[in-house]
Amino acid sequence: MSEEPAEIVVDLAAIRHNVGVLRRLTGVPLIAVVKADGYGHGLEQAARAARDGGAEWIAVATVAEAVRLRDAGYGGPLLCWLTVPGTDLVRPVAEGIDLTAYSVAELDDIAAAAATAGRRARVQLKVDTGLNRGGASRAAWAELFARARDGERAGSWKITGLFSHFACADEPRHPANDRQEQAFRAAVALAEDSGLRPELLHLANSAAAILRPSSRFDAVRCGLAIYGLDPAPGETPADLGLVPAMTVRTRLALVKQLEPGDAVSYGHHWVADRATTLGLVPLGYGDGVPRHAFQPGSPGTAAEVAVGRRRRPLRGRVCMDQFMVDLGGDAAAVGDEVVLFGAGPDVPTAQEWAEACGTISYEIVTRIGGRSGRVYVDTGDPASKVDP
Ligand SMILES: *Cc1c(COP(=O)(O)O)cnc(C)c1O
Repeated sequence: MSEEPAEIVVDLAAIRHNVGVLRRLTGVPLIAVVKADGYGHGLEQAARAARDGGAEWIAVATVAEAVRLRDAGYGGPLLCWLTVPGTDLVRPVAEGIDLTAYSVAELDDIAAAAATAGRRARVQLKVDTGLNRGGASRAAWAELFARARDGERAGSWKITGLFSHFACADEPRHPANDRQEQAFRAAVALAEDSGLRPELLHLANSAAAILRPSSRFDAVRCGLAIYGLDPAPGETPADLGLVPAMTVRTRLALVKQLEPGDAVSYGHHWVADRATTLGLVPLGYGDGVPRHAFQPGSPGTAAEVAVGRRRRPLRGRVCMDQFMVDLGGDAAAVGDEVVLFGAGPDVPTAQEWAEACGTISYEIVTRIGGRSGRVYVDTGDPASKVDP
C-alpha cells in the first residue's frame, strides 16, 4: 500500500461494462456524463472507458472540463452545459466542443467567440421544462429559437441539439415526469416551427434512460449508472447487471479494547454497553468520508465498513482524519483490510452509505478523495471481478 491513507480503486472494465448494458437496454446513442472528475472516478479515465464501452458522446458541466478532455487528446463529440460568466468561449468553439445556450445573451457571447475563432460554433439549446434550474424558461423559448435560427443563417453556429433535464426521474410515477416530457415535445415542435433542425434531442438522465423508454429520444445522458450505481433505488430492475466501478479500501491503523462504559470520539456520543474491540480507520471528513456517517441519538444511524468480510458499524463521531469501527470482540490486527464501499458480495455499497448519511450515492462517490489517490485496474471481465 502507498503512503496515502486509502486506495480508491476504479475498475475501468466496470465502466465499459455498464456503458454496454445501458447502450443495449436503451437502443439509442449514449452520452456519458463525466462531470465533477467523472463523479470522483477521474475525468479522463472515465471518459476513455466510456468511449471504449461504446458511448458515442461525452458530456461534462463546465467549459474547463471539456477543454481538459480535448487537452487529454479526446477528439470526439463533446458537450458542456454550464457556462460561468466571463469564460473564454473562443477556445471551445475552436476545439469543436458543443456549447449550450440557455439565453439570447449566451448566444450573443457565442456569436462573438465564433467571429474571433473564425469558425462556426456548435451549439445546443437547453430548455427548462420544469426543473427550474438551468435552461430557458418557457416564456423565453420563442425568442431563443428565433435568435438561434438567425445566427445559424448568418453562419455563426450550427444548432446541433436541443435538450432538457428531469426533476423527478428517480420517482417514475411522479406526475412531473409526464408534464416535463410533454413540455419537451412542445419545445421540439416550437423549435421546428422556428426553422431549427437540431439533430440530437435528449431528455433522459440515468434513471429516465432505464425506467422511461418514451424519454429516450435521440440519445440518453447517463452519469451515475455508468459508474455502476443505482440511479433509482427501489425502482431499477435488480437484474440490470450494473457493476460498481469504485471500491474504497484502507487498513486498520490501531486496534484496542473497550470496557463497558467507555465512550468514543468527540462529544462521547457513543458508549460501549459491553466489552468490545475498536478499530481505528485512518480516513475522515478530510478525505470525503461524510461526518454524517455516524449520527448520534436514538436510534441514530451509522454506516458500515467490511473488515475481514464482516460488516462493522462506525462508532462515535467521524473526525477529520480518522474514524472508529466496532469489531465486536473479534480478533483483528493492525493492517487488516477495511473496505468502506464498492463492489463485491460482502462489501457495503455507496448506496448503503448514502442511506446511512441521509444523502444520495452521487455525493458519496463524488466527494471521496482528499488525501487518497485513485488506483486504476482493468479486470477485463467484470462478471468475474466481484470476488477478487
Ligand atoms: C448530471 C447530469 C446528468 C447525468 O445525470 P445522472 O442522474 O447521473 O445520469 C444528465 N444531464 C444533466 C443536465 C446533468 O446535469
